[in-house]
Amino acid sequence: MKVLSVNAGSSSLKFQAYEMPEEKVLISGTFERIGLDGSFYTVKVNGEKIKKEVSLPNHKEAVRILTEELLNYHVVEDLTEIKGVGHRVVHGGDIYSHSVPIDEKVLHDIDELSALAPLHNPAHIVGIKAFQTIIPNAVQVAVFDTAFHQTIEKDRFLYPVPYEWYTKYRVRKYGFHGTSHKYIADRVASIMNRNDLKIINCHIGNGGSVSAIKNGKCIDTSMGFTPNAGIMMGSRSGDIDVTLVPHVMKNTGMTIDEVVNDLNKKSGLLGISGVSSDFRDVLVEIEKGNGQAILGRTMYVEHIVDYIAKYYVELNGCDVITFTAGVGENNADFRKDILNRLSIFGIEVDEEANANADGETLITTSSSKVAAYVIPTDEEVMIARDTFSFIQ
Ligand code: ADP
Repeated sequence: MKVLSVNAGSSSLKFQAYEMPEEKVLISGTFERIGLDGSFYTVKVNGEKIKKEVSLPNHKEAVRILTEELLNYHVVEDLTEIKGVGHRVVHGGDIYSHSVPIDEKVLHDIDELSALAPLHNPAHIVGIKAFQTIIPNAVQVAVFDTAFHQTIEKDRFLYPVPYEWYTKYRVRKYGFHGTSHKYIADRVASIMNRNDLKIINCHIGNGGSVSAIKNGKCIDTSMGFTPNAGIMMGSRSGDIDVTLVPHVMKNTGMTIDEVVNDLNKKSGLLGISGVSSDFRDVLVEIEKGNGQAILGRTMYVEHIVDYIAKYYVELNGCDVITFTAGVGENNADFRKDILNRLSIFGIEVDEEANANADGETLITTSSSKVAAYVIPTDEEVMIARDTFSFIQ
């Protein structure tokens, strides 16, 4: 059975087609600059990568071309073979703790939750509607980034602010990257053949979050009301004292939106290093001895260490620490520095295994009190799995 996994952004649309239940990727691709000049798409199929420049006035046109390519490459002979389309949806608020088939109510909820995710939820709706029009027979499923974190208890998801901010304005911790955190929790359970595990997962990509997971359920996560909370990231500040905002506004004449924009797009590794939000660019500067770049990396390590230590206590111990996403999967020295800072918990890095990690790899010694793994994340397959489960 064929299923699509889709991530629609405001000007982009990423997709993967799967043969289920084998979870075999048949074709994948990205449409970029939708609604803008210079739009194009890339498709990966049969080991080839093809790029085509084409006018993409809207998401519907992107979906139309996508289906044309599915036919063109004989991924399907007829569009009715696509039984389900799973959509990544950033914000499900406190309404959705699981994936759901999309109906009018779900669409309405996603729309209403746009107030909490103004950049993402409206784009998801446009994407969902385009697929509903072009592949009307397929079951459309919403897979929420926030869903996995809905098991966090009230004493951890509330901010210590006037209670009515929560009851009236939905101010609380939601957490994001939930699909990735769940994927890692599932993989660890499978690798270790145990469900009773205390896991601290570090999803460190451009965005980053750390989650505490007990017996497969999330009990805390570092992102908050928005993805800007928690650890510092590529360009996001992470946790700050919010009263610095009016101070910066008064001193610079910036508006609140401009300051919030800087906290999201000009802070984090970029803000401190002055080099880039991309970790690889910062590493190049570190090699040259750039002090700001070194400081940025040091702070990044400390932020992650702080959250791991906090969650070690919250979980009352920890069996496994996992690293995933761009930086977590690829940067051995970064992982080593984080784990060495945690030696007080009896963690011992297996330097060779860590340096040579490729795919799912245990990177601690057999005498380490806590195991650490590198586990490549796969949010797309989670979306395909949830979608497939509804069709069944
Ligand atoms: P996102 O999905 O949040 O956009 P990714 O998970 O793709 O981000 O991670 C992107 C980050 O991973 C970038 O900062 C990039 O520099 C970093 N990264 C990717 N490959 C490597 C590598 N080999 N070494 C160090 N950092 C890497």
